[in-house]
Order: sequence, then structure tokens, then C-alpha cells
Amino acid sequence: MFQAVAWVRRGLFHFRAGLSVRMNSTAIDRKGVLANRVAVITGSTEGIGFAIARRLAQDGAHVVISSRKQQNVDRAVAALQGEGLSVTGTVCHVGKAEDRERLVATVLEHYGGLDFLVCNAGVNPLVGSTLKASEEVWDKILSVNVKSPALLLSQLLPHMENRGMGSVILVSSVAAYIPQVKLGPYNISKTAILGLTRTLSLELAPKGIRVNCLVPGIIKTNFSKVVRTGASESEIPDMCSVLCRLGQPEDCAGIVSFLCSPDASYITGENIVVGGFSSRL
Ligand code: NAP
Repeated sequence: MFQAVAWVRRGLFHFRAGLSVRMNSTAIDRKGVLANRVAVITGSTEGIGFAIARRLAQDGAHVVISSRKQQNVDRAVAALQGEGLSVTGTVCHVGKAEDRERLVATVLEHYGGLDFLVCNAGVNPLVGSTLKASEEVWDKILSVNVKSPALLLSQLLPHMENRGMGSVILVSSVAAYIPQVKLGPYNISKTAILGLTRTLSLELAPKGIRVNCLVPGIIKTNFSKVVRTGASESEIPDMCSVLCRLGQPEDCAGIVSFLCSPDASYITGENIVVGGFSSRL
């Protein structure tokens, strides 16, 4: 109990103390609930990651965008800078160690540290039988979806923990609760992320870093086309949602901003469904 109070106190103290960040010459002083905080988001050049990047930047954070392809990074950075937001970017395939190192170097070069990490990048290279999945497919899915968030966080942690009050958000899927047919290894990887969230939340609590998980339902992006194929748009919401519409990437962004904000300072280890209905018991 007393230890917990000490963590909270230390977190609050550092939240104020950490407000000064090293910024490059183009960075602007921001206003908003996340003012002058630094956020790193993987897989953020389109879809859910891009919507999260835009929202955190609108709420005042300096945002580092990344994905596998330089042209996508350039396009996303230009789009958000065009909206007056504080954004920089670099290529980072989260499954590649050298790319993760480059991402860390970019963060340090521009800001000297970070406050928020959103591990959004995820892949699904297989539509088919679980037991027919090759070892290569298993390795790719587990490497990108499960191992890479832990490895990237371990590389960034030294630059996060000294700021006192950090927030990490992993991205799972309702497929973690309700397996989607023909997406076996992906379903399993997303279930593993729920466990990773709770394990890391325990391990990082003493450092004042909270770890939570966004669990999207079916969100209208290129990624979900494989699930949406074969069903008309009006049929899709029946699969998970009671709100009579598909989710949009922006539906996932506000909760991430909230989880980064001081209003969420007593929330850690949670898996939060944004799916038009909670598929959990
Ligand atoms: P999306 O629209 O296809 O966007 C994926 C983003 O990730 C792109 O910016 C892509 O850019 C990047 N990316 C892909 N592989 C990467 C890698 N190995 N390393 C780094 N970046 C990578 O996908 P989304 O629907 O927004 O999905 C985002 C996350 O939400 C995923 O983890 C997914 O599992 C989860 N999710 C999605 C849904 C849904 O219905 N859409 C539902 C549940 C969970 P590049 O091509 O340039 O790399």
C-alpha cells in the first residue's frame, strides 16, 4: 500500500519535472492534455496507427511516426505537419533489430527520450488452417506481433523510465477473445498480447510506467479487408458490434490519448475493447 502511494507520488512529481524535452529546431511548443510529451507509435502511416498519431499530436504530444516503407512515412509526416502538428518519422520494420535501433536513435536525436509508446504494428500473412501454417509463418506472426513490442520496449525503456510517468499501449484484437476462422496463428498472437500487457504492467509498475492494451473490433482499414471480404457492409457489424456500423480508425484514437493522460494515472494492466460491443464475459 505504502509502496503504491510512493509510486504514484513519484509519478506525479516526475510528470511535472519531465515536461521539458530536448526538441529539434522545428518543434513547436504545444498545448493540450499531452502538451510537450513525446509519443512513439509503430505501424502509424495509415489505419489505426495513423489515427492514433494524429490524435496524440492534436492533444499536444510530439509524435514519432514509423512503418516499413519510407514513402509511407514521408506521406504521413507531410500530411500531419500540414495540419500544424509536431511530427517526425523514420522507417521501422518492428521485426528487424536494426530498424528498432534506428527508431530509438531518431527519438533520442529529436527529443532525448519519450513518454508514450504505442505498439500498433501487426501482421497476418496467413488465411488458412492453423495446423498447415509453416514454421516461417508462425515465426513471422509471433515475431512481429508478440516479440517486437517487448523488444522495442526494452530498447526504449531506459529513455522512458527516467521521465517518471510513462504509458505503454499494446494493440490486440477481439480475435483474441473470439477466434476468427482461418486466422489461427494471428488469433493466438493477439491472445498472447493480452498476457504480455498484464505481465509488463506488473513488471513496470514500480518504475511508474503503466501498460494497457487497445483491443479493436472490426475497424475499416486495409488490414481488415480479409475479414470483411465476402460479407456486405451491413452484415459486418452483426459479427461483433451492436452499434450498426463498422468501426473507424478514429474510434480507437481517443482511448489511447486518455490512457496516456494523467486522467488514466491509476489504470494499468487493462485490456480495453473498442468494438461496438464487449466480446468479453
Ligand atoms: P493497416 O491499416 O493495414 O495499417 C498498418 C500499418 O502498419 C501501416 O502503417 C503499415 O505501413 C504498418 N506496418 C505493417 N507491418 C509493419 C511492420 N512489420 N513493422 C512496422 N510497421 C508495419 O492496419 P490496421 O487495421 O490499422 O491495424 C493496426 C493494428 O490493429 C494491427 O496490430 C492489427 O492487428 C490491429 N487490429 C486491426 C483490426 C481491424 O479491424 N483493422 C482489428 C483488430 C486489431 P507499411 O506498409 O509502410 O509498413
